Amino acid sequence: MSDKFSRRDALKFSGAAVGTLALHGCGFSDANATTTPAPDQNTLFANLPSFVPQNEPVATGAMRISFMGTSVIERRAQQRSSVFVELGNGDSFVFDIGSGAVSNYVAMGVPWSKMRKIFLTHLHGDHTSDLTHVYCFGPQGDGKSPLYLFGPSRSGLRNPDYVNGAGSDQFYNPEYFEDGMLDFALHFREMNRWHTESQSFVGTRWKSGNGLPAAPGDGYDVYATELDWMTGDSSKRWTTSKFLNDNPGFTSAKGIAYQNNGVTISFFPAIHGRNGSISYKLEWNGLSMIFTGDTKPNNFLVTSALTGNPVDVLISEIVVNPDVWVTKQSGITDPTSPTYIAGLDNAEAVQVNSHTPQMAFGYILKQLELQGKAPRLGVATHFQAEDDTNSWALEDIRSWYSGPVTIATDLMVIDATHGAIQVRRAIVSDYSWSAKWTDPRQSNGTYDPKYSDPQSCNPYHPMGPLNQFDPYLLANEIDPCLYNKSGFMCTQPYPTSSCKLPTT
Ligand SMILES: [Zn+2]
Repeated sequence: MSDKFSRRDALKFSGAAVGTLALHGCGFSDANATTTPAPDQNTLFANLPSFVPQNEPVATGAMRISFMGTSVIERRAQQRSSVFVELGNGDSFVFDIGSGAVSNYVAMGVPWSKMRKIFLTHLHGDHTSDLTHVYCFGPQGDGKSPLYLFGPSRSGLRNPDYVNGAGSDQFYNPEYFEDGMLDFALHFREMNRWHTESQSFVGTRWKSGNGLPAAPGDGYDVYATELDWMTGDSSKRWTTSKFLNDNPGFTSAKGIAYQNNGVTISFFPAIHGRNGSISYKLEWNGLSMIFTGDTKPNNFLVTSALTGNPVDVLISEIVVNPDVWVTKQSGITDPTSPTYIAGLDNAEAVQVNSHTPQMAFGYILKQLELQGKAPRLGVATHFQAEDDTNSWALEDIRSWYSGPVTIATDLMVIDATHGAIQVRRAIVSDYSWSAKWTDPRQSNGTYDPKYSDPQSCNPYHPMGPLNQFDPYLLANEIDPCLYNKSGFMCTQPYPTSSCKLPTT
């Protein structure tokens, strides 16, 4: 067992790591001082006051931050990275949408219509995987308006495998990869082609009426804006439809991703993986939050946090120390074991390439404090949050900084107003269904589906649920009357001899 791990392991059993943590004036504590820290539970989170999403809309003038995915690795207790920001003016913004996060959005009752503006910090799968789900299924619910995507520009890095003189070809011998946001959006849209067509037997765009304009485009339309990580330019845009208006927050101002309805979202470079990671800062109504995405500790973050009023909520990724990672993952504590050494080398390389050590987060917060710009609350995320790792991380952060800090886990909810910052634990059902539709345009109905059946004899008019099947397939469907004579598919068959399928 390494010295470091031994010391920390001892702390785990003494309870000292959390026992010495101070309380802070934000209505929460770092952890329950009387509880012995242990793996497989998160006392810090369990002891937060509860919050029932359905009972409490965002207050006018407030900013609510809900953590929908907080882990770097795959685990049932925490989905992958996603932060949801709702404002008192009714606006809402998604920052990253990693795998599994959508199940938390659904549990929190967030409708698809509130997830139409998505800001990606970088194109790692643990920050983008559930975009597929939002895109594919949003228009089946009330997300029947375009999806606006924002994300970083190409890396600009030369492909080390490029073969000189063999001809440059994007797929077989690219000298430079097309690895930016617009490239991602184009291929993402096409990757999902079969899905979007197959589900276009229902209407996917809101109509106008009742004093409300139609949705500016279809729910399967994408409008992507590329944010240049080096120059701050945001003028590169791509959309699936030439009829679609610009993203509603477009501005030519450098370093600004989005500006509309009193909301400004700026971006700045992050140092993570390779060129092409960014961090975001959202400002509205005198409130602000920063979300770093993934990054090594950097001066861009410090500069952004020093600009303007102190940040209200500064959300930074952190990573467990390499020795903890190896032992947690492998179960090996012997530092002379070749497996341990190989694992440690790997964990250290990952940290050097990509992440913010626990202690560095404390250091950054301290530097901000020294310049009178300490955030009202620092939040660590992208982290395997359980009692022992929480206590070790807080110990490292506290070695530099004693201000208000917490560690996020899924369903932690922060309400920020000018007067207070409240941190709570959302109470949700594990068996929730898709969220209720809230888009007010639903009262207008939709344009006819792309695959519609206009015949009045069609019982599903204007939907055409059978329009995308070859007669060969339909001729081999088992007759519904064979298994349920009283079922609607037997008593009200479609098609019938007098109401054939339209020929397309
Ligand atoms: Zn990453």
